[in-house]
Amino acid sequence: MQLARRLIDGVTYLFFPRLCAGCNRPLVRSEEVICIRCESLIPFTNYHQIDRNETAMRLWGRCAFSHATSLTYFSKEGLLQHLIHNLKYAGKSETGFYLGKLLGHAIKEQNWKIDLIIPVPLHRKKEQIRGYNQSLHICLGIADILQIPVDNTSVHRKRFTESQTDKNREERLKNVRDAFTVVNPEKIKYKHVLLVDDVLTTGATIETCANCILKTPGTQISIATLAIAG
Ligand SMILES: [Zn+2]
Repeated sequence: MQLARRLIDGVTYLFFPRLCAGCNRPLVRSEEVICIRCESLIPFTNYHQIDRNETAMRLWGRCAFSHATSLTYFSKEGLLQHLIHNLKYAGKSETGFYLGKLLGHAIKEQNWKIDLIIPVPLHRKKEQIRGYNQSLHICLGIADILQIPVDNTSVHRKRFTESQTDKNREERLKNVRDAFTVVNPEKIKYKHVLLVDDVLTTGATIETCANCILKTPGTQISIATLAIAG
């Protein structure tokens, strides 16, 4: 039986090799999503070990949070841009799950005592166009390591905000102000929420979403993103 299964696996692999999400080369059996060479090239920040890290400093004074970290540095044309692009636009949700697990390990190391993981929501229309919220898959990876629940229904995004990429900080803030609403406060009150997004740029989206969640009594926020842009 086992031999038959291995034979089927082998034949499947021959015709449909699993490819590395970073470099597109076939993965060997022990590799998962990203090959060992690409994984060695991921620019990890180790911010989870530093309280006064760049992610925390960028958000200081804008929303009250307990901890903040980003797993990697994001640079244009870099490996992370490629991976996150695949995650967002090419339907490679397993890349989000995989990187989410790495983020989960970093957070577990620091024992942040999180109760609930919430992805920064996309507007329903945008989610329909893309097919899914990429941050949800990052959350599912984190949850797999921390063994705590993901809540992707209690916070909604109200407006269909325009693309943020060519806006400065003030324009971005205006664009997302009042964009979020907590539709199920019972589920999040008195909880330490880990708010998760893919890339931290100016932080306007995270700031607004965090402040919206913090209006619910007893909530505490920590923040984690896959990458921080310079
Ligand atoms: Zn690779």
